[in-house]
Amino acid sequence: MPYLHSPEDLGDLLDGEPAYRVDQLRDWLYRTPVLSVQSMTNLPNQVREKLDRQLWPFDVELEQSADGGTTRKWLFRAPDGAAIESVLMGYPRRATLCISSQAGCALGCTFCATGQFGFERNLVAGEILAQVAYAQAFLRQIGMPGVPDHLTNVVFMGMGEPLANYDRVREAIRRMIDVMGISARSVTVSTVGMVPGIRRLGDEPWQVSLAVSLHAADDELRSTLVPINRRYPLQELEAAAAEYFQKKRRRLSIEWTMIAGVNDTSEQAVKLAAIATRLRAHVNLIALNPTPLTRETASSDSRIKAFARELGQRGVNVTVRDTRGRDIDAACGQLRVLAGKRGLTA
Ligand code: SAH
Ligand code: SF4
Repeated sequence: MPYLHSPEDLGDLLDGEPAYRVDQLRDWLYRTPVLSVQSMTNLPNQVREKLDRQLWPFDVELEQSADGGTTRKWLFRAPDGAAIESVLMGYPRRATLCISSQAGCALGCTFCATGQFGFERNLVAGEILAQVAYAQAFLRQIGMPGVPDHLTNVVFMGMGEPLANYDRVREAIRRMIDVMGISARSVTVSTVGMVPGIRRLGDEPWQVSLAVSLHAADDELRSTLVPINRRYPLQELEAAAAEYFQKKRRRLSIEWTMIAGVNDTSEQAVKLAAIATRLRAHVNLIALNPTPLTRETASSDSRIKAFARELGQRGVNVTVRDTRGRDIDAACGQLRVLAGKRGLTA
């Protein structure tokens, strides 16, 4: 499975072939990805046969489409049974892929389906990168109606906490930027607030975008929703985010899942506005997608609009995010299909 090899070590797979053949293979894997080895047209048969029978390090267990073919969700399955989920969202001038960094997640945020399902294992760099290459191959060879034929954005908002799997995520990002040619600015790492990871990412040479999943603007409330807040409380998180902004000069985003009666109050809006202003961050509001194990419900549309207005009045840039692919449970961080499979129904 060539994606499990470092792009620099592909020669090991094509023992005895000239260097230009290795370069051709690297181009097929990273520059112009294709869905199957058969499409690697300039490689002679004997070279294609040297590659593993399987190009991808996972099987496509489920592929679902929604929103008139502009949202697509894949549930990939690694040979050891680990589930990997990616969602591709197409727009007239954008194609954003949401990828997973871990199978499951150990951080247990109460409202998150992935957190409820527990931690299975870290994904390796090749498994993270292969999600990007697969979507790129899909856009090139099959495509979506009215959507660019290549990825414009990659967001780490699928399963798992990317900064809890730092080294492998780092290597996947390196391959995206240095080998695939994706620009660092179009890659967004979303974190629930792993402070040491934010610091390390700030020291990397890339201008990767950072999204902080805040959800609550005081420690008391945040610790009930996001257990890791007890380890890295808000003040430390805000300091690390501010430092990231200073180092990279990339606008931060704050993610805020709207939960009825919990974090959609005016009091939270006021506190959030203060944090967002200090960080000069953009706030994304997203309605909670109900999960099997919580009784919480999403804030109403009118409450979300009012909350957005309260932020806006305080000078904060705010977007209410659309919930793509609701009918296929494809919103990022939403893995009910998977949860259902594991018997985690309410
Ligand atoms: N672990 C990282 C990235 C994966 S989660 C993080 O937490 O940021 C990606 C996003 O989905 C996060 O902003 C998370 O808060 C959000 N999310 C999780 N569960 C959700 C739900 N039930 N409804 C809406 N958004 C959810
Ligand atoms: Fe993990 Fe992010 Fe879900 Fe929290 S919201 S449990 S950090 S995937």
